[in-house]
Parts: sequence; C-alpha cells; structure tokens
Amino acid sequence: MKINFMKIALKEANKAFEKGEVPVGAIIVCENTIIAKTHNLIETLQDLTAHAEMLAISSANQYLGTKFLKNCELYVNLEPCVMCAGALYLTLQIIIQIF
Ligand SMILES: [Zn+2]
Repeated sequence: MKINFMKIALKEANKAFEKGEVPVGAIIVCENTIIAKTHNLIETLQDLTAHAEMLAISSANQYLGTKFLKNCELYVNLEPCVMCAGALYLTLQIIIQIF
C-alpha cells in the first residue's frame, strides 16, 4: 500500500514537471485515505512557500478541520527542505516517507 501511495506522489511530481516546476509531489494519507494530493506550484503561484509539502499540509488541515494531522502520513519524492520539515514538525505525528 505504501508503494502505491508513493506512486501517487510521483504522479504529482510529474504534474509539477509538466508545468515547469521543480518536480516534487506530496500526498497526505490519513487512515489509508488520501486527504491531500499536491505538487510544487512555486512558479505558477509566484510564491516561494508553495512547496508540495506546504500545500499538502494546508489542504489536509482544511480537510480535517484541525491544525494537527494526527495519524497521518506524508509521502513525498524529495527530502523536505528546512521550511517544510519545520512545518511538518509543528503539525506533529506526521511520518515522513523518503524514497
Ligand atoms: Zn520545502
């Protein structure tokens, strides 16, 4: 199952690549349900914080209606940068899967 989630994150990374973005894709899974599926949108949004992980965190927060992402897992195809790692730390209990 984790491999399938990673494949979905890679598909998101490909979407970023096709848009001329740095190819990073991320998904957040909660109890085996994908609650956020995003990719880098830095160039599209002209927003340096629009990293796939940051967008995934915001999307998951909105989906769950909470600021913490308990029992969730993040799948991303690149090691998170310092900004994203900090945000992931703040949301607590996120497991980072790096392949
Ligand atoms: Zn980042």
